[in-house]
Amino acid sequence: MLQRKEAVRGHQVLYSGLIRLHVLHHACEEAIYGLEMIQELSRHGYRIGPGTLYPILHAMEEKNWLRSDKELKNGRIRRVYRATPSGGRALAAAKEKVQELFGELFAGQAKNPPR
Ligand SMILES: [Zn+2]
Repeated sequence: MLQRKEAVRGHQVLYSGLIRLHVLHHACEEAIYGLEMIQELSRHGYRIGPGTLYPILHAMEEKNWLRSDKELKNGRIRRVYRATPSGGRALAAAKEKVQELFGELFAGQAKNPPR
């Protein structure tokens, strides 16, 4: 049996794509800040710290899905992220995949209800 810590790490592997999609979804709708995104993700039950989120944001920027700018907010310089047109297309394509997977995941549940 997996130790709890290992189980959580295993789940993170499953959730990493969901976290990227979630970030991209919000970045398509509005400018996002790292800290706000951490709070948003925690609202959805993902416990993710800056040490995990910032490398994800940088990697998404390198893929040209996000671009970042420095902006003054509440008297402090903060980095703000927005989706690029390429990020918007990546999200649209991923949403089709998610929808298909969603259908299969939940259709399967209906056919084989847990006992
Ligand atoms: Zn959200």
